[in-house]
Amino acid sequence: MNKENSSFRKALHEKKGVEQPEHINQKSIQTVQKFRRRPLDTSQLIKKLLQGDIPSLSRAITLIESTQPNHQEQAHQIIQECLPFANQSIRIGITGVPGVGKSTFIEAFGMHLTSIGKKVAVLAIDPSSTISRGSILGDKTRMEDLVKDPNAFIRPSASGNSLGGVSRKTRESIILCEAAGFDTILIETVGVGQSETAVHSMTDFFLLLNLAGAGDELQGIKRGIMEMADAIVINKADGDNLERARLAKLDANRGLQLFPMKDSQWKPKVLMASAYYKKGISEIWELIEAYVKLTKENNYFETHRSQQNIYWLKETINEHLLQNFYLNERITREFPQKEQDVLTHRKSPFLAAMELLELYKNTSKI
Ligand code: GDP
Repeated sequence: MNKENSSFRKALHEKKGVEQPEHINQKSIQTVQKFRRRPLDTSQLIKKLLQGDIPSLSRAITLIESTQPNHQEQAHQIIQECLPFANQSIRIGITGVPGVGKSTFIEAFGMHLTSIGKKVAVLAIDPSSTISRGSILGDKTRMEDLVKDPNAFIRPSASGNSLGGVSRKTRESIILCEAAGFDTILIETVGVGQSETAVHSMTDFFLLLNLAGAGDELQGIKRGIMEMADAIVINKADGDNLERARLAKLDANRGLQLFPMKDSQWKPKVLMASAYYKKGISEIWELIEAYVKLTKENNYFETHRSQQNIYWLKETINEHLLQNFYLNERITREFPQKEQDVLTHRKSPFLAAMELLELYKNTSKI
């Protein structure tokens, strides 16, 4: 066994530093376990991933999620080589408050997509998981059909210490899913405000799920989130709720009129659906197709993706610098004193910050 294989093998058995989310596809767990016993070098992993091998995709995502430097190095190589094969997809962001029906919707929508020949990957960004290690998409029972669908791949939110870090991992996982042949990527996030911007910055189409009858305040829907939406779907439009759903649709339409025309030239639409009874699902897909057609014709689709790449270039630098700063040994040592200086008004926050930055400049190698 060559050196690379040996360290790779060791890495696969190493738990330290690897925060692994729960795998959802039972079949893939078994294959991953079988696969883990065998050593596999990076180029073989890439080759299999590009052939659409799900265990290889799972392994590669685990490498992305790892905090170990050797894993990160491998992950970079994999991403780089997958990049030419990515990009051929539609990336859809889905948000809404807990209980609005996101899981139920993704199950119904995903099943519809695979029934028309699509390959669907479901990823998530969950800001709460960075704190509580909890996870949306964690409740497998809610997507029991999609989980079993061979044309679907479901991966819960990565865990991590910062939303920035978790988002970057999700963003990189999108590339790998696309390289593995998934043409429709659904990215779920919970509608609490901060993660929407991250999801918006990595998707082509942004879908907001709303409830009938609950006021905007109750739904925690911030103006900014509504403004980002390309479509608002009033979910649970069934049974006694139907009339209220109609009113909510009118309301949402009125709300949307307050926003200026989007750069995409797309006018956001409001639809009603019942994820539970699988009603109104195909209409949502048709709407997304219309969006893609328009934005490909007017070139927004490509321009937007390029802008997103620049956004991620900057985000990654920001994240790296911040992490480096706060992990710097001298900074860790000096920070409490500067904090005291600021608290006791001995120094202005600006002066204290400049002194710390100066110290960082003199000590860091980056
Ligand atoms: P999430 O927290 O946003 O992922 O919401 P879930 O998908 O877990 O749904 C929350 C609850 O709403 C569950 O009990 C679902 O069965 C129910 N639900 C979801 N969609 C619908 C729907 O279209 N109609 C009705 N009546 N109930 C729904």
